[in-house]
Amino acid sequence: MDVTKIKRSLNPNHIMAWSFSISLFFIAALSVVVYFMIEHTVDKQSESSKYINISGQQRMLSQRVVLLTLEYKLRKSAEVKKQALDSLLILKKKHMFLLSNHALAISKGLPSPLSASLYNLYFSEPHNISEKVPKFVSLVGDDWQSNDANDNVSNVKLEMASLDFAKNELLIAFDTAVSQYEYESTTEIKNLLAVQKAILLLIVLVVLMEGVFIIKPLLAKSEKFAEVLQKEANVDYLTGLLNRRSFEILSTQAIALSQRYESELSILYIDIDNFKSYNDKYGHKKGDSVIQLVSAVVKKNARHSDSVFRFGGEEFVVLLPKTSDQEAVQLAEKISMKVSEATSDRQKFDECITISCGVSSYIHQEKGPEAVLKRADDALYQAKNSGRNKVILFSS
Ligand code: GH3
Ligand code: MG
Ligand code: MG
Repeated sequence: MDVTKIKRSLNPNHIMAWSFSISLFFIAALSVVVYFMIEHTVDKQSESSKYINISGQQRMLSQRVVLLTLEYKLRKSAEVKKQALDSLLILKKKHMFLLSNHALAISKGLPSPLSASLYNLYFSEPHNISEKVPKFVSLVGDDWQSNDANDNVSNVKLEMASLDFAKNELLIAFDTAVSQYEYESTTEIKNLLAVQKAILLLIVLVVLMEGVFIIKPLLAKSEKFAEVLQKEANVDYLTGLLNRRSFEILSTQAIALSQRYESELSILYIDIDNFKSYNDKYGHKKGDSVIQLVSAVVKKNARHSDSVFRFGGEEFVVLLPKTSDQEAVQLAEKISMKVSEATSDRQKFDECITISCGVSSYIHQEKGPEAVLKRADDALYQAKNSGRNKVILFSS
């Protein structure tokens, strides 16, 4: 599999961006819904209180008109008459206003916006407000005619009729309307608040789910990704061997242990012979499989306590703790033989591959790995100069 593909599939940033965007979008959408619901609730509340208020005013106006009519009979004051007529006009206007939405909907052939209870209040007995208001207006109108004609006592009967009507019919009808508007307003607001609560709960749930199903797995993935990156930084991709960077750390540790326990420590510096011409002849891909084969042979013949590094293109270094120079030479010769053996199969390899190897041991007074590495490299140089396919132990 392609390394970049592996990295992309492991890289949490990619998924993180997507999952966060989706969940944030979801939360934002829900918040917008909540915002509009609050706005709607506030609108509804102010509209409801307007209706409750107007209904209450109607109630009050009906009583005022009757009182003013009676007062006019006693005082014959033009001012009182004006007040009574104004109140009657306002009562009519308010009545029309309360039914304006209903009238508009009906004229368009749409269902009435009134609830079933309000509809009954306005259009059915016992209250039938839509009929009672015009009836009241006409009763009062009769009173005015008789008032203006003369002071005949028989007219008192008529005034009493409008007074009774206002007290017994209209007052009760308007009271019922006010209570109904109040009831509907509180019920609707209660419902809206319940929906808002449900949405807020959903937002909290989404945030929690985001934590459990997105953030937690992403953190785990992130940790794994960091591990892969760290491993990649220390391991050679082609062979799976440790790389030169790891040599700095592991050789320093091995030297510290060697100094501490006064134990031996040796190094092999291996280089494939004439590898450039092999590459040129058979191509880079075949060259790669040779590198992989040599690394597998070295790894297989080294101990678990040894560390094998790919140092450069076709160069390998083996760190051998508790190993004398003679033992290291033996191991190098064994590896050299195994590489030749493994590549003698003509079906798999076009040519027999040989390696050259320089061997050197650590001297306890030395501070770092540089000196022993340099000696092993020098020995390798000698091996190359003396005809290749050789193991040379460094000697000054
Ligand atoms: P010598 O016997 O003196 O070591 O000669 P050589 O040809 O092996 O040495 P040289 O350093 O001249 O060439 C090493 C070649 O290794 C050059 C380069 O093309 C090849 N090489 C380096 N890294 C890789 C790799 O990862 N894959 C392949 N296929 N070839 C590589
Ligand atoms: Mg080389
Ligand atoms: Mg070489």
